[in-house]
Amino acid sequence: MQITEIYKSLQGESTHAGLPCLFVRLTGCNLRCSWCDSEYAFYGGRKMTPEEVFAAVEQLSPNGGLVEITGGEPMLQEREVVPLMRQLVEGGYQVLLETSGERPLDRVPAGVIKIVDVKCPNSGEPDTFRMENLETLSDRDEIKFVLSDRADYEFARDFTQRHNLAKRVNAVLFSPAFRKEASGARDSSHCLLDPQELADWMVADSIPARLGLQLHKFIWDPALKGV
Ligand code: SF4
Repeated sequence: MQITEIYKSLQGESTHAGLPCLFVRLTGCNLRCSWCDSEYAFYGGRKMTPEEVFAAVEQLSPNGGLVEITGGEPMLQEREVVPLMRQLVEGGYQVLLETSGERPLDRVPAGVIKIVDVKCPNSGEPDTFRMENLETLSDRDEIKFVLSDRADYEFARDFTQRHNLAKRVNAVLFSPAFRKEASGARDSSHCLLDPQELADWMVADSIPARLGLQLHKFIWDPALKGV
């Protein structure tokens, strides 16, 4: 499998935000979201077997803990990433899979917590979410909308209500997109959608979702990779 990086940091998103986490970033993505901050993972990386990745995880996190499989889009390498995730779960790790929701998720091993994006209109990749994936989600999984304007918010609000997401999954996350060229200040000035505005909308609509900020962008320089 093709791997961009394996590193330890704090989990910045989801209900696991703030926990130490080991990240395995797979190379390659078939989407091109306008605000993507992982473009460096589109190409390159190095070839590793699932066994070599597992050994690297064990070396960095010998006592178990949280491991996130991310990308790029990890499910493009389904043949290798599925056995890797199974081995990690069996090895006692708590495994998160961060995915765009465009690839089928029915073969993701039980025990893996799926964090699935639904791309909003302003992402540049609308209508890429595979609707059958809704049936693969459980009350341990999470659905995330990355928002950059009011139209994105209304899409996410309506999708959440229409598909009764709050009853299907552990958490529905509404997260302001960050400017991909952001650097320097560690504050919300880099958000494409002001979190305060988003909070006001969510409260006004009593939407059953959580506002999520990318914690790592407020701890380290938003331009830093590998954190
Ligand atoms: S799916 Fe993820 S990695 Fe791929 S372009 Fe969109 S944000 Fe970037």
